[in-house]
Amino acid sequence: MPRFKQIAKMLQLMENRDNIRNIGIVAHIDHGKTTLTDSLLAGSGLLPLQIAGKARALDYLEEEQKRGITIKTASISLLYTIDGQSFVVNLFDTPGHVDFAGKVARALRAIDGVIVVVDAVEEILAQTETVTRQALNERVKPVLFINKVDRLIEELKLTSEQIQDKFVRIVRDFNSIIESYGEEPFGRRWKVSLAQESVVFGSALHRWGMTTHVAREKGMPFSHIMQTYKDNDRRKLSQFLPLHSAIFRVTLKNIPSPIDAQAYRLPKIWKGDIGVGIGKAMLTCDSHGPIAICLTNAQFDPETGIVFTGRTLSGKVAPNEKVYLVDAQQECEIRGVYINMGASREVADRIGAGNIVALTGLDAAKAGETVVDISQKENMVPFEPGGRISEPVMTVVVEPSEPSDLARLTAAMDRLVVEDPDLNVTLSRETGEYLLSGMGELHLQIAAKSLQELMGGAGMVVSEPQVAYRETITDKGKVSMSKTADRKNVFWIQCEPLSKEKSKLTLQDRSLHGTDGLLITNKHGNVLVNTTKGTAFSVGIKDAIVSGYDWACEAGPLCSQPITGIQANLINAKIAPSDAETAQVSRAIGRGIFGSFLTAKPVLFEPVYRFELTTPNEMLGQCSKIIARRRGKITSSEPRGFAHVVSGFLPVAETYALAAQLRSATSGRAFWQLTFHCWKSMSKEREAELVTRIRKQKGLAPEIPNADTFAEMIS
Ligand code: GDP
Repeated sequence: MPRFKQIAKMLQLMENRDNIRNIGIVAHIDHGKTTLTDSLLAGSGLLPLQIAGKARALDYLEEEQKRGITIKTASISLLYTIDGQSFVVNLFDTPGHVDFAGKVARALRAIDGVIVVVDAVEEILAQTETVTRQALNERVKPVLFINKVDRLIEELKLTSEQIQDKFVRIVRDFNSIIESYGEEPFGRRWKVSLAQESVVFGSALHRWGMTTHVAREKGMPFSHIMQTYKDNDRRKLSQFLPLHSAIFRVTLKNIPSPIDAQAYRLPKIWKGDIGVGIGKAMLTCDSHGPIAICLTNAQFDPETGIVFTGRTLSGKVAPNEKVYLVDAQQECEIRGVYINMGASREVADRIGAGNIVALTGLDAAKAGETVVDISQKENMVPFEPGGRISEPVMTVVVEPSEPSDLARLTAAMDRLVVEDPDLNVTLSRETGEYLLSGMGELHLQIAAKSLQELMGGAGMVVSEPQVAYRETITDKGKVSMSKTADRKNVFWIQCEPLSKEKSKLTLQDRSLHGTDGLLITNKHGNVLVNTTKGTAFSVGIKDAIVSGYDWACEAGPLCSQPITGIQANLINAKIAPSDAETAQVSRAIGRGIFGSFLTAKPVLFEPVYRFELTTPNEMLGQCSKIIARRRGKITSSEPRGFAHVVSGFLPVAETYALAAQLRSATSGRAFWQLTFHCWKSMSKEREAELVTRIRKQKGLAPEIPNADTFAEMIS
């Protein structure tokens, strides 16, 4: 079918919610997600068959093609006809590298099902578990594709029984993830099974795939497949058992339509009243209801400006429609409505509920924003935020080459965080330079490249990545008393380590009126509690107290690293009757927190990665030595065919040039993943050495100041 006809048919079908499926493909890196995607595109006529598997159609950014990984989530709408019935399959491609796990989390919001790709040789690895767990968390239903079966036959030379045993083991391990992380009743209902057609096995590279049902239907026992490989006739397999047929069949059979999915997903992702109004419209995926869209992805396009991709949960969205951005608290007008076709977009008149849509004109939004019909401005509750699943543990300093380009850098930084909210941008308190923090070296390299493009030709200088540390306390501190410069306002503050219970509070619990009066969380995982009795704070003073607390937590007194895991108690306050100068109040609060913090046995935490490394058996010794020399701890080592999977923990500070060392030690045959695990204390000698080094780097006085430089210590 010519492309324009295909697009027209697709737009027509998008009105029919029973015939829509919103899906994604997730996998551990290198397990074959991109190869599978290309095969599906070829199967629906969007990519010539000869180049499927080589084109990497959804990896459309130059950087992605070069590195062979998927970084930016892109979507594509496909038309597929099965048993005479046509469907629109909106397919999100998701990044495989753990540095981009935040993007996976947002993409999951838009889809109702995932195809989890597992390499049959390596079986289920850490990232398979992480992405499946994330999907279950969002009530996104998984199906399984066991890929690279050709390797079991040709490389490992397993027998038919051994291969089937392997399949059974993979399915069992996969189901144990579903059981462990799926909420009731999904953990029970969503288990996959070879017999029930929720598992495909095959080879994305050779473009064949089958289910046990197809095997029976076509009278094709597994031994035939093995024989076909022996006869070197595998092309037959892609003709007789096309991969896209098996995958689409299993997808359409198992993944629910948006009508079915929204009925159980909405209560999880939205906490408003689902019984009436917009809540009911979203629950029933009502195209006649008010517009409600959850934006999941933002991309800058030099021609059209920022293009947002999102899921329409109710209503019909069309150009010139007036909408309201709930988080940004802004009205705006939709300029363009499109469907994504990978790197390109097709213009649409309107798109109804239950679809994936691309929109322009929403410049004040960020990925994650809630967009509603203007009539709902007053009463719309925003969608629940998708949780951040990692921590920005590496930082680079960024400056413009010419001081006159600072404004351009500021604008570029603003735009960068709209596209990638997992990046953290702060201004260095000491030098005024921009600090850009990300999940790891790769994340920052890609961010620096995007930033350079956004600077439009202006030069910038990016430092080598530095590890981010955290300051915290291990004991209850003394009460500090601090005054504003005019001495009219006095605050009494005491810091203590955050209790387990309070550490569960999230940013969303940030509220000026918590159960303890004034209870405020901040992004570094701290809590401020107001325990003053009967002190009335004006709104201006409240804001000043909160900004003083945020200021203190942004860079602690040990060596200007963010503070984490503390509870700062505002015990007492004396406020001058006329409104105090708020900047003075903020400073007094910050100094009070520092004073008490320094008496509470402060320590420095370093970030630790969890690693998982796959290495050929004969190189296991070499790899283990490299890890041990870098203060790493191996917690498990398991054989998988010709390879070993080694996992454990490694301080982030020990990962510089690790890639080069591992590559050269294994001639590029080892693969590994590093995921943030925890913040951890270190030896006293190491800590002292680090504090001195960081203070020097930041141009601070060599010695850590005494508590009484900041405030008067009471008890
Ligand atoms: P992704 O990182 O999950 O997107 O993985 P890719 O699709 O880029 O595949 C990683 C590597 O595995 C590439 O070299 C592919 O050619 C290869 N690959 C993918 N599927 C298969 C398969 O079925 N059999 C074999 N032997 N190799 C495969």
